[in-house]
Amino acid sequence: MIGHTGLETPYWSSLAEGKLSLPRCSGCGQWQWPVAARCGECGHWGSEWQDVPLSGHIFSWTRTWHRFGGTEALPLPYVSLLAEIDGTDGKRLMGLLEGVGEEDRVRIGAPITGRIGSTRFGEEDVPVIIWRLRDGGEA
Ligand SMILES: [Zn+2]
Repeated sequence: MIGHTGLETPYWSSLAEGKLSLPRCSGCGQWQWPVAARCGECGHWGSEWQDVPLSGHIFSWTRTWHRFGGTEALPLPYVSLLAEIDGTDGKRLMGLLEGVGEEDRVRIGAPITGRIGSTRFGEEDVPVIIWRLRDGGEA
């Protein structure tokens, strides 16, 4: 897996099962994303992975009009999102926006809901979070 160090294995495994899981410190309960071996808040070494909802809000977004290495499978233009995930104290994850024409309604703060899809990065199929604006998704 691209950029795979081992600590995030449960993240990729959960995506492969069609759900989203993030680590939470088993000492103090702090969400730990990006994943870390040791809690930055309390120093505890253990964490537990919890399923979280595929819903949130747009923190930031960009529309890409030009091809660059590894993105050949994506139709141009495409919209990438940085989403704040509901129920995680503002933890953020990247994903793609789907929906023809919806990119014109994209606004920071707009509510979104997601599903796990797949895309091709270079020669590898990778799971990806695919977001869609929730009904009434204006910010
Ligand atoms: Zn902790």
